Order: sequence, then C-alpha cells, then structure tokens
Amino acid sequence: MSTRCANCGVESELDEAFEAGNQFGHPYCPSCILKTRGEDVTAVKWVFPIALVISVAGIWFNPEDDTGWAILNTLLFYVFGYASLIIHEAGHAIMGKALGLRVTNVQLGFGRTFMMVKAMDVRWEFKMIPFGGFARYIPIDLPWFRTKDFLTSFGGPLANLLVAWIMSWPIQAGAEFTKPVFGELHLWHVFLGTNLFSGLWNLIPYVSGNQPTDGMLMLRAPFIRDEQIKKLRLIRWQMECDLSLEEGEFDKALQQVEEGRKLAPDDPELASRKARALLGAQRFDEARSEALGVYEIESLSLEARARSSNTVAEANLQLDDEKLVHEAGFHSNHVMRIIPWDPEAKTVRAHLLIRKDEVDEAIPLLHSALEEESEPRPRAMMHCLLALAAHKKSDQSAYQAELSNARAAQPDHFMIAKVEKPAT
Ligand SMILES: [Zn+2]
Ligand SMILES: [Zn+2]
Repeated sequence: MSTRCANCGVESELDEAFEAGNQFGHPYCPSCILKTRGEDVTAVKWVFPIALVISVAGIWFNPEDDTGWAILNTLLFYVFGYASLIIHEAGHAIMGKALGLRVTNVQLGFGRTFMMVKAMDVRWEFKMIPFGGFARYIPIDLPWFRTKDFLTSFGGPLANLLVAWIMSWPIQAGAEFTKPVFGELHLWHVFLGTNLFSGLWNLIPYVSGNQPTDGMLMLRAPFIRDEQIKKLRLIRWQMECDLSLEEGEFDKALQQVEEGRKLAPDDPELASRKARALLGAQRFDEARSEALGVYEIESLSLEARARSSNTVAEANLQLDDEKLVHEAGFHSNHVMRIIPWDPEAKTVRAHLLIRKDEVDEAIPLLHSALEEESEPRPRAMMHCLLALAAHKKSDQSAYQAELSNARAAQPDHFMIAKVEKPAT
C-alpha cells in the first residue's frame, strides 16, 4: 500500500501526493515535481533576456525590418499580460478590503514563485506563468457577506474593464505619439486588449479545473449558506495562524488559535497549529501533548497526522529526555512513511540521527532539505543542525561556517544559542 517515485525512488503511503511527472504518466513525488518545474523556470529566465537582446539589436540595426518588432511585441504581450493580471487581482483585493473583508494573500499566475511582496497587509505571490491567479478573501462577520462576496468577485474584472476604457481614450482621440509596435498596432492597443480580454473572460461563468471564474462566483454569491460562511470564518483563523507561524510570530498564532476556538472549540486543524506555535515558542512540553492529541484523532487526514507526529518528534528531541528519544523515533518513522520528501520531516529526522550519533546519515538529509526550503526560519534550524553534526565530527571550521549561516538566515533563532554551547 504505497507509491514509489519514478524519479528519486522515494516511497510513501500518501498516494494522493504523487502526480504524473512526465509524458509517460509515471508517478513523481512532490519534491521531484517541484524540481522538474524548476528546470522550466530556468529555461524561461534565459529565454526572456536573450529574446529581448535579439529584438532590441534587430530594431537598432534595421528599424525598417519587422522581425525585431515582432519579437519585442511578443515579449510585451507577456509583460502586459502580467500587468493586466496585477490590475485584476488588485481590483479584488482593494474591493475586498474596502468592504471590510480579510484579504490574506493574492496569487498572480501559476507555476513557481519568483517574487513575494507584502503590501496592504496582503501577501502577493508572483508566479512564472502569467495566466490565472486568485485573491483569497474571507468574511470577518456574517452580515452582508453575500453582497460583499458578489462585489469582491466583480472587483477584478471591473478593474480590467476600467483600465481598458481609460486606454481607449487616446485611441478615440486618434493620438499617435509613438511608433506602432507591429503594423498599425500601438503599445496601448495591446494593453487595452489584454485588459479587455481579462475583464470579459473572467466574467464568463464556468468552472475550470476546480476553480470557478469570477462570473461563476458572482452567480453563486446570493446562494451561499450560513454554515458555509461560518466555516469560512473558521478557515480565516486557520489561515491567519499559518501566516503568523511562517513569520515566526508564535504568540500571535496562539491568540489566533483562541479566536478560532470561539467558533469551533474542537477543531483539529486549530489544535495542530497550536502545537506548532507552542513548539516555536519553546513550550516543548505543551507542544508535545497538544500534538499527541491531534495524532490520536484517527479521522484526520494522513498528512495532518504525519505533521503532528513531526511536531511530537521535534518537541521530544528538544526536551532532551532519554525516554522521549525513543518516542521521537517512533513518530519520525511514521512521518517518513507518509511525507519523506518534506523538508521539515527531513530536518526532524536529521535531528534524531544526530542525537543518536548517526551523523553521516543526517548530513545529506539536511543538505537536501536546504535545497527545497526557502523560508529563513527553517533554514536557520537546518544550518544549526549541520553545525551540531560538524561539532560531533570535530570539524571546527564547518561548525563555525554553519553557525554563521544560521545567524545569517535568522539571527534570533533559539537553536543558535543551543548550538553555540553544544553538550558534548
Ligand atoms: Zn521523487
Ligand atoms: Zn478574478
């Protein structure tokens, strides 16, 4: 009862985590899927500037020839497509905020993230492929949510149509203050086109994949049930908590768990976040018992239980009690049967191995975890463990190097102080 990755050979009982990784449809683990997508990103990163240089050079040396202009136009289409997307999602975000909804994050396009910005208390994630995206907005209270939801869904297309309308002014006025980019086509024709397309296309009510378009959401808005709104309010606290955990704001995360518990006292999703917040706040005893509680809920998803197991294992290792190391081993084994590719799972595994003096096995695990993790807090932890491993191998220079890597990633990480005076 397990699936094996056709690329790296890792095995897991979590069958649904695997996706077809190539044209032959063999299963790939999430980590290999990310890696193969990463290669596409590298290709795009090179193709874009090279095409730009070719087109500009072509126009420079032979302004009468259309080839350079055609390439430039194609590139501009990408840029304008992206700009229309930003306008669209900003339309949702601004409308949602103006109506008093909580807008947590906006995803622009899909594929790999190449930039992340925090603005207006919203996380903006820029993806490589500039089509599609979403703004996540959730209700804070019940009244008027259906109307607010309808208007917020309309906000995106509305912003595009407004911009398209403004872009049409110079065209109506017959203005011609730049050279056409292709034939009779001016820059603002293209921008008008991408905005008009984005605005109208998103108003067509249909469901693509499992994501409904804005038009579909607007049609559904009047029929949202009260229970659904209540559920969304609970999801809001789960998401706020996730953001706080990622930013290392553990006390804030704990407060948000309590807010969520006012709506659903027994929600296991909140409990598993509470365990992680307690772990981050270095309240290891409480983290262990909270996470054990979640682990015992058998109706919970395989992955959620595995993540709780991981929290138990890490809390136990931090508690530094010989009896608990055995329990940490049991839970880490469980995690590695479900999510062996997960950087956090690898980190805890490596911590356990170092604790058991199996340093040579721990180091490659940590290096592969570092390859996949981009957040500073977990990266600092990985460097700390590498420093510990180096210390156990009496490799003084690697020990110092990894310690300074950890400080560079997250100077206030609690593990740094522990590694600076390692127990021998
Ligand atoms: Zn794999
Ligand atoms: Zn939209």
